[in-house]
Amino acid sequence: MPKIHQLSQSIINKIAAGEVIERPASVVKELVENAVDAGATRVDIAVEGGGRDMIRVVDNGCGIGLEQLPLAIASHATSKIATADDLFSVGTLGFRGEALASIAEISRFVIRSRTPDSAEGAEMEVVGGNASPATPQGCPVGTMIEVHNLFFNTPVRRKFLKTTQTEFGHVSEAVSRIAMPHPRVHFTLRHNNRLVHELPSETLLERIGRLAGKQASEHLIPVESEHEGVRLSGYVAHPRESRSNAKSQYLFLNGRHIRDRALQHALAEAYRGLLTTGRYPVAFLFLEMPAEMVDVNVHPTKLEVRFQDGGRLYSHLLGTLRTKFLSTDMTTHVELHGDSAESERDDAHDPDATAKFRQQVIDWAKTDDFTTGADAPSSGVSVHESQPVRPVGARGASGGGSFGSSPSRAPLQLHSLDSPAFRPYPGGARGGTAIADPASSDVEGDADVSASSEKHWRADPPHTNAIQVHDRYIVAEGPEGLLVIDQHALHERILFEKFKARLEEGRVDTQNLLIPEPVDLSAPEREAALEHRETLASLGLKIEPFGGETILVTSYPSFLANVKPEELLRTVIERIMTQEKSPSLVELTDGLLETMACKAAIKAGDPLSPEEIDSLLAERAKAPDEHHCPHGRPSVLVFPCDELDKRFKRT
Ligand code: ADP
Ligand code: MG
Repeated sequence: MPKIHQLSQSIINKIAAGEVIERPASVVKELVENAVDAGATRVDIAVEGGGRDMIRVVDNGCGIGLEQLPLAIASHATSKIATADDLFSVGTLGFRGEALASIAEISRFVIRSRTPDSAEGAEMEVVGGNASPATPQGCPVGTMIEVHNLFFNTPVRRKFLKTTQTEFGHVSEAVSRIAMPHPRVHFTLRHNNRLVHELPSETLLERIGRLAGKQASEHLIPVESEHEGVRLSGYVAHPRESRSNAKSQYLFLNGRHIRDRALQHALAEAYRGLLTTGRYPVAFLFLEMPAEMVDVNVHPTKLEVRFQDGGRLYSHLLGTLRTKFLSTDMTTHVELHGDSAESERDDAHDPDATAKFRQQVIDWAKTDDFTTGADAPSSGVSVHESQPVRPVGARGASGGGSFGSSPSRAPLQLHSLDSPAFRPYPGGARGGTAIADPASSDVEGDADVSASSEKHWRADPPHTNAIQVHDRYIVAEGPEGLLVIDQHALHERILFEKFKARLEEGRVDTQNLLIPEPVDLSAPEREAALEHRETLASLGLKIEPFGGETILVTSYPSFLANVKPEELLRTVIERIMTQEKSPSLVELTDGLLETMACKAAIKAGDPLSPEEIDSLLAERAKAPDEHHCPHGRPSVLVFPCDELDKRFKRT
């Protein structure tokens, strides 16, 4: 029988540390929260090696007396609550009394502190949980905590740490999340002795601007409302400032950063119709409510909380934003600022600029007489009256396409052209996975069919029967069945490959800017950009640090003359930041090319002339992976003839 025994304090602390301290940023979060709880008006944070080597937090708060120091680093010792009832009226950021004990267990930890009423302070060192006695030490009023070699005695945790850059990104984010709701407190953040943040005591709006970057904060829409004891205030960004992820959505509850899926959903709902799919609003929202209306003791790092009435909060947030949006003229705003905007939506507002840009990029990439999209579309072949092709049962890798499937009918066998069985043009297609039922037994047979039809197929002029439907899809005849082509996705892929070929041939001319363009970034964005400076330079995008939050773009790839250097830089940075590992040159290049291709390609909704359709289809044969757009969506679907025959009960 296994024997039950009491765990040692050291193991208990390590287990607690495992929950609370995931990475250097968790230490920073706990220490800075303690400083704020101590009433500090100034907090200086310094980290080295992303926090792995050293973390130091110095504050001018209330300090800790010599005799209290051992208690501060003891587990379950806190000055913030005393009784169980207090748990439901927590007014401080901390209350569990576990953080210092956990951190001291897994690092070399030094604390030095002095209260205002004592003539001198005290110091204590703890190495892997072993504390030396506290000794008197001269120091200013407040507390200094230094954490060296985090996770030195928990090597598995240490091994899981990411790059210095990534870890520092988390540290910086942790600081932002505390600094944002405490704009009156002066914070500084240094990384490897470089000043990353200098946040003087300021207003909330100024603080947001400093942390999130000028661009995000310039056109913020203030929100404010109060409902049954709950106050909602803060700012949301104009839809134009949307992001490709939800990282720029900040939600605070009584001064603490929290994450709440329901409220995030309410935010997305409020922006419905204002943003294209895949875009996320930017928001800085602050909820204030009596402590007893929320349970903050449900998550080890208190990131999640439980509201007494989540449903009411949801409606409160959604209602407030909707009302605000109704009284704010969003549309005019978009058009007024259309020229400085970045999203595809905004491009759509300025067809001339888009066409010009498209022309320019295509000219640059042109290696033959490919003209699709270059000419202004003349007589679009719109076949609105014709029967729409409505496949049922599209599934698998169709990328969640909008084809509906009727559950009452057996699914139509739907191949995508990346099926190894399907090669209308030799040499073009790369191996891929079939989106049809992988168990489908006719793959071998198909191979024969397409092989035998290849010769015949190539002899004919391609797709003379192709038509455009709904200004969006091209329906064409393939050797094996009906092809439905997404015109935007296909053109995007073709351009992507062309751009790539140009880059690989080393034909990237750079254009030096006469006047370097300043770009305001947030601290982690700036760090990421500078870290990849050389990679960016090899793409023709040269940058220089320019003090504070600003970076200067000094040159850019000349074929992108119509894309703002700032936009290019932001695109690449977004790519760097959303990747766990440092992206390689290839990944960065691809990201940049994808964006360009997407912007330059014909759009869904563009009518095409028959010549343009033919030209597009001819180009399809030459692109190495013409079946997917660079974003991975399929560009061509195939409806095999024998399946159609079956559906029409011909066989
Ligand atoms: P908690 O914050 O949950 O109380 P901690 O382990 O983070 O637990 O801290 C333990 C105690 O040490 C706190 O309750 C507080 O009294 C004291 N303390 C920690 N950091 C500071 C600081 N920077 N200034 C003053 N007191 C501090
Ligand atoms: Mg604490």
